Amino acid sequence: MRSRRPPHLLPLLLLGLTLLAVPAHAQAGFVHLPPAHVGDLQAAAQARPELQILPFDAATAWLQTRFQQPRNLQPIHPTDLQTLHQGGTAAQSLDIVLVADGFTASERDAFFTAAAVTCDALLQWSPYAEYASLFNVYALFYPSPQSGASHPSQGVYVDNAFGTTFDYGGVERLAVADDAKVLDAVGQAAPDYDIAVVVVNDPAYGGSGGAVPVVSMAPDAIAILRHELGHNLAHLADEYDAAYPGYPAGDGEPNVASLAHLEPLKWHAWVKPETPIPTLEAQATSLYTPVGAYEGARYQSVGMFRPAPNCLMRSLDMAFCPVCQEALIVAIQKSTSMLRSRLPGPGPIVTCTLGQCPTFTVQTAPIATLQLQWLRDGHEVATGDSWSPGMDDVGDHTLTLRVHDATDAVLSDPGNALVEEAIWNLHVDATEPPPDPAVRALDCGSCSEDVVATPAPAQVSTASGCQAGTAGGSSWPALLALAAWALRRRSA
Ligand SMILES: [Zn+2]
Repeated sequence: MRSRRPPHLLPLLLLGLTLLAVPAHAQAGFVHLPPAHVGDLQAAAQARPELQILPFDAATAWLQTRFQQPRNLQPIHPTDLQTLHQGGTAAQSLDIVLVADGFTASERDAFFTAAAVTCDALLQWSPYAEYASLFNVYALFYPSPQSGASHPSQGVYVDNAFGTTFDYGGVERLAVADDAKVLDAVGQAAPDYDIAVVVVNDPAYGGSGGAVPVVSMAPDAIAILRHELGHNLAHLADEYDAAYPGYPAGDGEPNVASLAHLEPLKWHAWVKPETPIPTLEAQATSLYTPVGAYEGARYQSVGMFRPAPNCLMRSLDMAFCPVCQEALIVAIQKSTSMLRSRLPGPGPIVTCTLGQCPTFTVQTAPIATLQLQWLRDGHEVATGDSWSPGMDDVGDHTLTLRVHDATDAVLSDPGNALVEEAIWNLHVDATEPPPDPAVRALDCGSCSEDVVATPAPAQVSTASGCQAGTAGGSSWPALLALAAWALRRRSA
């Protein structure tokens, strides 16, 4: 992650629970609930006839005591942390750890297979797919004494490592884990992680969002994870209009606007002049167009607006609408680095004689929409991934390599999250330098260690391609070492 936060802060930003709809695809998928409103969950669910309400008093009491029990997790073996997908170093990437729950020791291989399937299904979905090279995904195995997850409404209680259970709050498909234990375990095994996700060994459809998203083994459950990461990464709001009593008021998320904030719309860059605001669903030309302001979002059917007729933040079988997609891309870019290495590396003034100057070279993440521009004292002198000084470059200059993600999926980037720069101070002599050791002639073959920092390139996956067991637990220390290099590089 580019702007390193305290290890557990990101997940905690979105503490909440998720209420799953039944059937999953017929209605808006789920409601995001802050933990303080767990008591309201039942009321919210009863307000929605499509939800299946189960008797749960005894189950809830059981869960509360269960989560207070100390659990002795076995020390993990190095091979219990495997790399599924490696886009770059930890410092350059968003690091997601898929954690096993409900897999016994004999089901270890099944977990890594399931984690790879989950990873693939996530990174094949836009916009995660286009930016897969900015993600690392790991699988962390902890054996559970028993297989599966609890279903208290059915009288099924499973002794698994992280206490994952369905029926939370009386909602059958709401599967939650013991967040604190998961975060503690992941923090020990993979301290540089950004998001921990529990993959629970249960075929029932279910999951949840919040600090630690949970996803079951049901094939369609991957949509829950895609949706929940919209909350975790981009702070997207749910676009459901089903009532949620007690939910805090506001429209601070990038994909919702209250009646008072329709002019100007925060996503106005996407709205064509001919699109009326508010926009009626009858005026929709497709599932996601035109972008406008459609009433019904953030658990309110009136007075709260969403950008598009539909969206994955509204219905689980949809794609992300353009505004949510933009917010996700900006959020991903803000937390990662497109620039992978630079030559010469950060250091003092690069001094050289014309004809003997180094070729300035950068490596970038394999993102299709990147544009590279070389600027000498603010003026473009070249494009592409390398540049060499010429006759016009004699003297003192500031050389800037600017990487810009020119994707047309982002129309508004006020924080320049999609731009990165590498800067060198350059002095070019026209003639042979005097025999002064203070003046160093550099070329790529004689670059000194403090000037040239060329890391061992991380294994880069150009497609999502998740595969368990490719690097083993030993990859994590290597990533940390590279992260240290990257931090030094970024400070230059
Ligand atoms: Zn949306």
